[in-house]
Amino acid sequence: MRELIEIDFSSYTNIVVLTGAGISVASGLPTFRGTGSIGEEPSTKKYTSVQAVEEDPAGLWHYFSHFRKAASQATPNAAHIALAHLEHHLRPDRSFTLITQNIDGLHQLAGSHNVIELHGNVHRTRCTFPDCTLEPYLEENLYTDSIPSCPLCGHLLRPDIVLFGESLSPLADWKSKRSLRECDLFLAVGTSGVVFPAANFVRSAAYVGARTIIINKEPINPPNPYFQEEYLGRAEEILPQLLERQSEF
Ligand SMILES: [Zn+2]
Repeated sequence: MRELIEIDFSSYTNIVVLTGAGISVASGLPTFRGTGSIGEEPSTKKYTSVQAVEEDPAGLWHYFSHFRKAASQATPNAAHIALAHLEHHLRPDRSFTLITQNIDGLHQLAGSHNVIELHGNVHRTRCTFPDCTLEPYLEENLYTDSIPSCPLCGHLLRPDIVLFGESLSPLADWKSKRSLRECDLFLAVGTSGVVFPAANFVRSAAYVGARTIIINKEPINPPNPYFQEEYLGRAEEILPQLLERQSEF
């Protein structure tokens, strides 16, 4: 029988949760990295890397239109809902930051507020011209066979996501690091825990003395010594169970 985690959320003041694609699997969305992910398929590598923006923008839009369609039809699962519930029920003097590597927007749909989207949001579109003043906006068109251009400057538009080979948004990076400075509970969910940035974040949290926990379907390989506790299982089962055992946070 699996060991049960005990987390008394009320005893922590600055909670930081990092989520990865594993948390959205139960909502029917594919993972981009890891065993069996679509990022491992040669055909998709091309469209998830930064080169696609210049070399094949139509292919990029076409490729992501499938994910955007799936993400717009997906609904948050019990894991997303549990995290939103936790944020809403914490005492007002507590801080809660949800850093996500996911681009599907499901945390916000579940009701989470303080969300840092490390890799952007696939429902948002922005201009490819760096000096353009067009604000990123929510896009409903899928553009399966066309490429939209900017109404202000005429350059091509692109999904507002961080592709392989691109840097994180400086603001998202800065906000994440700020939240980790005083973190006393760091919980990683549905992420492998070995790749950037999860590995750096847990190390920062461990340096400031936080309790560090990872919940994932697969064990971390190689093990990351900065995670003090590792629990194997499905986020949509474990997170609600964790909260059920606690009446106040
Ligand atoms: Zn523009």
